[in-house]
Amino acid sequence: MDFSPGLAAPEQDDDRDLCFVFRSGSLLVMPDGDAVRIPCRAELRQLGVPSAGAHYLGRLGERHCFAAESDGDASAAAEAEWRGLRGLFGKVDETLFLVAGRAAQIVEWDLTHRYCGRCGAATERQPAERARVCPDCGLAGYPRVSPAVMMLVLRGRELLLARSPHFPEGMYSALAGFVEPGETLEQTVVREVREEVGVEIANLRYFGSQPWPFPHSLMIAFVADYVGGEITPQPGEIEDAGWFSIDRLPRLPHRFSIARKLIDDTVAALGAVPDEAAARRGAAEAAGPQDNRK
Ligand SMILES: [Zn+2]
Repeated sequence: MDFSPGLAAPEQDDDRDLCFVFRSGSLLVMPDGDAVRIPCRAELRQLGVPSAGAHYLGRLGERHCFAAESDGDASAAAEAEWRGLRGLFGKVDETLFLVAGRAAQIVEWDLTHRYCGRCGAATERQPAERARVCPDCGLAGYPRVSPAVMMLVLRGRELLLARSPHFPEGMYSALAGFVEPGETLEQTVVREVREEVGVEIANLRYFGSQPWPFPHSLMIAFVADYVGGEITPQPGEIEDAGWFSIDRLPRLPHRFSIARKLIDDTVAALGAVPDEAAARRGAAEAAGPQDNRK
């Protein structure tokens, strides 16, 4: 189902409108067997969850979508529950997850830009664009997107994977880091690989991008080739890093993440190319017993 973003809400509310309601960063969902779904306007009314000041997001298929922050006292009825966005992994389809991420970021931006960062006056929402503007000094605030790069470094049929101290146990992923002011994406990739593992790379290839609402990143992913250097994990940032053969990979991030798509696609591409070193080893092993029988 396609999502078409929009700014101006339709004139009439519809009971079928999808309502992404948050409370302290958690989203109100309706469990539905193994999956969850987003409550519609009629259900929200039945649940008695207030959601003033909704932001219009756009249309998902035929249904209009709204995002709102609920007041802190609201508790969900038995048939609904509050879940962190990560709790939606595998429970909703990818388009719905992206709309929920968009909703989360707009609600969070709105909550954290109520006052002007320059003069402290209360800001006002704008009807014609997604912005909050200070009526006293004119400073405008827009929803924030922080670009971050991700890079999968290759050495033959091995991948450079690393884990940060806050990863789930045993999980490894591609390296990643935030873009600094004044940097190109390519410069960030080279700098981050050097800082995080002390390795030099070349031959960057763009892979793809993904909005990542934790809290407001845009992940831009690359593949790169190893040139030189010994892996030296950056203290505090990288708990462990190493070269992993595509045949022996550790626990990887969730399928929803671009990290996983980057790794899966690269493994598939490398796996499709005959492994000449392994073929030579296999030939030597096959020859061994025959030699002994002589
Ligand atoms: Zn101001």
